[in-house]
Amino acid sequence: MSVDEATLVRLKNVSKVYQTGTVALQNMNLTIREGEFISFVGPSGCGKSTAFRMIAGLAEPSQGRLEVLGLSPKDARKKGTGVSFVFQDATLLPWRSVWDNVILPLELRGVPKISQRDEAFRVLNLVGLVDHVKALPRQLSGGMRMRVSIARALISRPKLLLMDEPFGALDEITRQNLQDELLKIWQHEKMTILFVTHNVFEAVYLSTRIVVMTPRPGRISTVVDVPVPFPRDESFRSSPEFGTLVAKVSTSLKH
Ligand code: ADP
Repeated sequence: MSVDEATLVRLKNVSKVYQTGTVALQNMNLTIREGEFISFVGPSGCGKSTAFRMIAGLAEPSQGRLEVLGLSPKDARKKGTGVSFVFQDATLLPWRSVWDNVILPLELRGVPKISQRDEAFRVLNLVGLVDHVKALPRQLSGGMRMRVSIARALISRPKLLLMDEPFGALDEITRQNLQDELLKIWQHEKMTILFVTHNVFEAVYLSTRIVVMTPRPGRISTVVDVPVPFPRDESFRSSPEFGTLVAKVSTSLKH
């Protein structure tokens, strides 16, 4: 399978059957180009997290081919800088400060302290947390904890950022603020983001394309293009185009 320069991830007839016999994904085909922001929407249990774990090299497809950065996902992961993960739960170490949580991936890789420092300042600036470096996770709001989690994912300068319902537990205002910040970071870092959400409004606001999945066994039902330029702002949320796209994705979900 040849991968051209702009292709970052390619799934070709990918299926996943767990040892329990559960068919989590069936015959998934998708090509993801560098710089895209793709959201995955679908009912719980349709295999979104499974697809992410396979792309991150944490699980193997049962059938089909999957390539990340032109390599098998495991080899891409071994290279260390390709892929980062952000989960709904910020998964911070409670006894470590914001700073110490953020530098953890570099510490584990044995990166020299001086580079850890430069990179930590870079990402803490991106997420607006330079004034909170000494705080412990329990002293932060949910939104701030998520910013720390995003900074920790960005410190490895990933080409691909996998986000599994990162804003699912946040209140609406915090969520919308973080959506705007995430879009700024995405544009600044020129990376590719794959994003799981149950929120159709969020998917339309953020994405260049939306992959709508069927109930289990998960397959791609439709891919909806969102041909609206960036930067996007409140005027997009209240535009007729936004409403039309939300309706289109919602209708595909119901079918
Ligand atoms: P989603 O993220 O869309 O909610 P998942 O990928 O988590 O879906 O799960 C897809 C299906 O696979 C579900 O039915 C789930 O119960 C099952 N599943 C997920 N992980 C495992 C596992 N490790 N072993 C067995 N079944 C699993």
